[in-house]
Formats: sequence, structure tokens, C-alpha cells
Amino acid sequence: MSSYAIGIDLGGTNIKAGLVNKNGKIQSRLSIKTNYNADPQIISNQIFGLIEEFINSANSTTAEVGGGLKPPPISIVGIGLGSPGLIDEKGETIIFSPNLPKWRNIPIKRMVTERFSMPCVLENDANAAAWGEKWAGAGKEASSMVMLTLGTGIGGGIVIDNKLWRGANNVAGEIGHMVIQMDGPPCSCGNYGCFEAFASATAMVRRFKELLKSGTSSSLKDSGEITAKAINDAAFQGDRASLDIIKETGQYLGIALVNIMHVLNPEVIVLTGGMIGSGELLMNPIKEVISQRAFEASYKDTKIVFSKLGNDAGIIGAAGCLLKELGISV
Ligand SMILES: [Zn+2]
Repeated sequence: MSSYAIGIDLGGTNIKAGLVNKNGKIQSRLSIKTNYNADPQIISNQIFGLIEEFINSANSTTAEVGGGLKPPPISIVGIGLGSPGLIDEKGETIIFSPNLPKWRNIPIKRMVTERFSMPCVLENDANAAAWGEKWAGAGKEASSMVMLTLGTGIGGGIVIDNKLWRGANNVAGEIGHMVIQMDGPPCSCGNYGCFEAFASATAMVRRFKELLKSGTSSSLKDSGEITAKAINDAAFQGDRASLDIIKETGQYLGIALVNIMHVLNPEVIVLTGGMIGSGELLMNPIKEVISQRAFEASYKDTKIVFSKLGNDAGIIGAAGCLLKELGISV
């Protein structure tokens, strides 16, 4: 019987789930819109519903008899749950999550374990995604890896010696909140000058608007709402201002990566999230800054790559954390 884990990626917009095999492949998937503003019980019931669906379908597959080719029986060994926000030091309770305003101190691990009589692992979503890339994606061959998720904010996950590095209080990896300018722009965390306040999609849009205000011409000048995607599309059409702002964003990213290399000297740095759609436009300035500023010994063997699993990393990684804990996968 093949062993599978259910991986769940709890997000503020969608709850995505997959049945993942021990090689990190998603066998089947489910997704549902998060009732993000609802009471915790309603959101937990959404999660339970997805788990039940997988269990029921595995049971019916296993029970199926008759002639012909029968799919191999499936054994679900547990549930891995990746959640945004702060998780307690024991990895049992979601203390709070910025995307789910009513979630405060929810002991979700116990709730899942009791309801389904199966082991459950609770992991921060950025860590889960980083583990997914390390286990089955762009960091597969490496024993040390740092992953940055570049989107509305900037998330991070760190793997050292084939293990997630969670820190003393389960809050390591807040790479987006590395301060790179003492009196820099305000950040969503309340601090000033965080790397995220320069290089996230939100920050790029803000800097682009400032550029337009200062009189720089752009094909986006008279367009209504300016988004990171619109800037990206305009850059690919050759819009100078858009190209410049993406280049500058890459330079900020390069600065952060130099800092990461100097502290951790990882084998691989994986970049993921919506902003990697800019491809080489973003990667070239990153690599240029690194070659100018990093110690050669720190960067010569560090690979900087885009994610392989994309949006699936969270599901695969959550399942992988569970399978690792059970000793089923590495
Ligand atoms: Zn911050």
C-alpha cells in the first residue's frame, strides 16, 4: 500500500490541499475559497471538509473490488498544515494570522489529530513552502537553502543541514523584515526601512508611482490602477520607467541576497512568488549586485534560481514536513 500525506496550504484567499506521495508529487488536489473573516470554527470546518473528502475518496478507492485494473490502494498517514502567521514554539497553535483576523490561539494541530485520529504537523506557510522546494523542487540537491517569496510582502524560509531552521522561538526566516535602511520607508510590520518596504510588489508599485509623480514618462502614466503585473507587462513592451523600476527592485533584492550569503553562505537561494514573472529583468540586476558586493568566497558556489514548484510548494512542503516527521521521506 502506498503512503500518502494530505498537505494543506491555508491562505487568506484560498485553502488549497493535495494528496501527496512520498516522492513529493501531488496525486489529487482540492481548493476552496477561504471564509477568511468568519469565526475560527467555520474556517476549521472548511479545513476538516477537505481532509474528509480525501479520506473518503481514498477509502472508496481501497474498497473497490472487481475485475480489471484496480488503482493501487492508498494509505493516508497524516496531515501537514501550512498556515500564515505566528505559530507557538511547540508547533501546535496558531497564535495569530494577519490574513485571518479572527484566528487567535487556535490549537489546530490537536483539533485535526483528535478529529481524524491521525498525526498532524503544523508549520508556518513560508517554512512549509521552503521545505517543499528543498524536498522536491529547486533545492533538491542542496543541504542548505534559503527561499524568498516575493509578493505583496516578502516571506522567507531557511534550511540548514537538511532541516528547517525555525530559530529559538519558531520565528526565524523573517527575511523581509531585515532592516536595510535605518530611516527608510515604513513597513507593514510597523518598523522602518525593512527590505520588504523596498522590494516587495507593494513597494515596487509605490516607488513607481513616486517616479511618475516626479514627471518621468511611462506608457502607464494614464492607466487607472497601477499593479506590479501592469509594470511587468509594460516592461516587456519596452517601457523605460517600468524597466528601470524592476531593475532597481532587483538591486534591492541583490542587497538582501548579499546579506544572506554573508551570514549563511547557503548552497542555493530560491526565489518564488508573483514577482519572478519578470524573469531575467529581475535576475540580472540581482546577480550584478551580488558580483559587485558579496565576498567571492560567499557567492562563488551559491546558486540563485527560480522556484520549480511555484504555487504547489506550500501543499507539497506541508505534506513533506509530516512525512519527514514520520520517517517516511527524507
Ligand atoms: Zn518590516
